[in-house]
Amino acid sequence: MIEITKAEVNTLIQLQKAETETLEIEHYLKGVEKEKALLEARLTEFKEGLDRLKSELEIINKACSDADLEVKLNDDRIEKSSANLKKVNSKDYALLLREIDNNKKRRESLENLYLKSLEEKETKEGELKEQELMFEQLTQQIRSQQEDIDRKSQSDKERLEEHKEQRQKIALTLNPQLLRRFNEVSQMSGGVAVVEVNNEVCRGCFMNIPPQLYIEIRRRTYLIQCPHCNKILYHIESLS
Ligand SMILES: [Zn+2]
Repeated sequence: MIEITKAEVNTLIQLQKAETETLEIEHYLKGVEKEKALLEARLTEFKEGLDRLKSELEIINKACSDADLEVKLNDDRIEKSSANLKKVNSKDYALLLREIDNNKKRRESLENLYLKSLEEKETKEGELKEQELMFEQLTQQIRSQQEDIDRKSQSDKERLEEHKEQRQKIALTLNPQLLRRFNEVSQMSGGVAVVEVNNEVCRGCFMNIPPQLYIEIRRRTYLIQCPHCNKILYHIESLS
């Protein structure tokens, strides 16, 4: 059983106030960080799309230059065969002519293939350019939103430091045994260690306090915790 004075109860209440403020701001700032992270994730996602587009373009570029090369090789073959026409006998001449003819026919489909991939390449390049511009704009927009968030939360960060300091100062004035108990209960109950009891009801868990215990709380001679939620109880009238 820990004996307690009126001043100590008041200090506990002050400590609870500082603790609550600290936790509230911390909770708020966590939300702010989450908001910033979500913005960053949006940017990352966009960037990934952009990278995919770039690798698609690389593949198309390769297909395009391959097709171009095929056309040139085919032209070379036609040229070489045409030059050979003058040197061969009549039997080979006919074969060579057929070969030239086939290659000339092939030329058309090869060229079509080349033109098709060139078209695809241009479309993809246009798309990439557009997406790059959008990415640039989105980056600017998100960076400015993040800076805005930082600016707005700067005062909350300062306020948090003040409350932490305040909490520290109050804690130093408290009997170590009481402080230890406060910290234990606070840790167990999400930062709420001290609550009021009113009309035989604990304001921490809203359960009824046994009448005899209620009388003891009103007498305020030693530290009493709620039999249901374990929080430290006080009665406001016992402090006046
Ligand atoms: Zn309770």
